[in-house]
Amino acid sequence: MSDNLTDLPGVGPSTAEKLVEAGYIDFMKIATATVGELTDIEGISEKAAAKMIMGARDLCDLGFKSGIDLLKQRSTVWKLSTSSSELDSVLGGGLESQSVTEFAGVFGSGKTQIMHQSCVNLQNPEFLFYDEGSVSEDELAQPKAVYIDTEGTFRPERIMQMAEHAGIDGQTVLDNTFVARAYNSDMQMLFAEKIEDLIQEGNNIKLVVIDSLTSTFRNEYTGRGKLAERQQKLGRHMATLNKLADLFNCVVLVTNQVSAKPDAFFGMAEQAIGGHIVGHAATFRFFVRKGKGDKRVAKLYDSPHLPDAEAIFRITEKGIQD
Ligand code: ATP
Ligand code: MG
Repeated sequence: MSDNLTDLPGVGPSTAEKLVEAGYIDFMKIATATVGELTDIEGISEKAAAKMIMGARDLCDLGFKSGIDLLKQRSTVWKLSTSSSELDSVLGGGLESQSVTEFAGVFGSGKTQIMHQSCVNLQNPEFLFYDEGSVSEDELAQPKAVYIDTEGTFRPERIMQMAEHAGIDGQTVLDNTFVARAYNSDMQMLFAEKIEDLIQEGNNIKLVVIDSLTSTFRNEYTGRGKLAERQQKLGRHMATLNKLADLFNCVVLVTNQVSAKPDAFFGMAEQAIGGHIVGHAATFRFFVRKGKGDKRVAKLYDSPHLPDAEAIFRITEKGIQD
């Protein structure tokens, strides 16, 4: 343990021990916790929790940032190619780090294929884009991916196939991809929270995939009565993902299902599951739909700084292609 938690206001040795036991092993974990989370630990009052969090934020230099600081942080953003030049260009270059990108669509639209391709491309230095000098040499050295699979659709053999066509070693891709099968939303959330531990252990996690984001929540929280609880948990999960993206300069990708909603003009339209909670937490949102044959259309919408636009790509044996 590197940080001495007793340096925090109101934290003595016994409280420090309890914090560590509950997983709050360093200042950053405490700085980004909520009062509610800390008061779940026995013996920590709301007032004490608030004081610790503020203290930890000071020590971690979290708080108000000037526009210049933010610009500096943004300048370390790097981008991961999707293998589709149209899709990359709609994204302004590629899948961005420090953001959560969502791909929503019906079954077979290609969401899982995009996730697989991203794991492959992470191992291809030519597919990692950044301005010279913006990203340090170590930052993207031996990058690793975490793939949280909630639907049992991760296929190592498909990774091998895509890698072969991209001319990179499939074994390397598999070695550098941690796969976790989540059977329910609690496991899914826990795996996401554990990613920080993998990073502390020295793994340079640069890509996080959640495929899919909402299926477990949707299965477990059925009916109107459970909606508030579902949204609250989903909100916490999205916060974990955004935190990872920001603090560790990762690309975070989530897939999502769609449901039909009545639409004034078209009778029925599709919408991504998860409502505003997911909508506000994802920076880039795509709808993917099937076209003729192996063609797919991805439509970017609601981006804070990019225009709505469509990209056409193909899914073939080789993977994602123009
Ligand atoms: P779901 O909502 O069911 O998870 P999805 O959007 O994740 O669907 P994918 O599994 O990514 O859909 O896409 C499946 C489609 O990808 C198949 O219908 C097929 O067209 C294409 N595909 C998958 N593997 C291959 C392959 N080896 N060669 C060619 N095309 C493939
Ligand atoms: Mg899928």
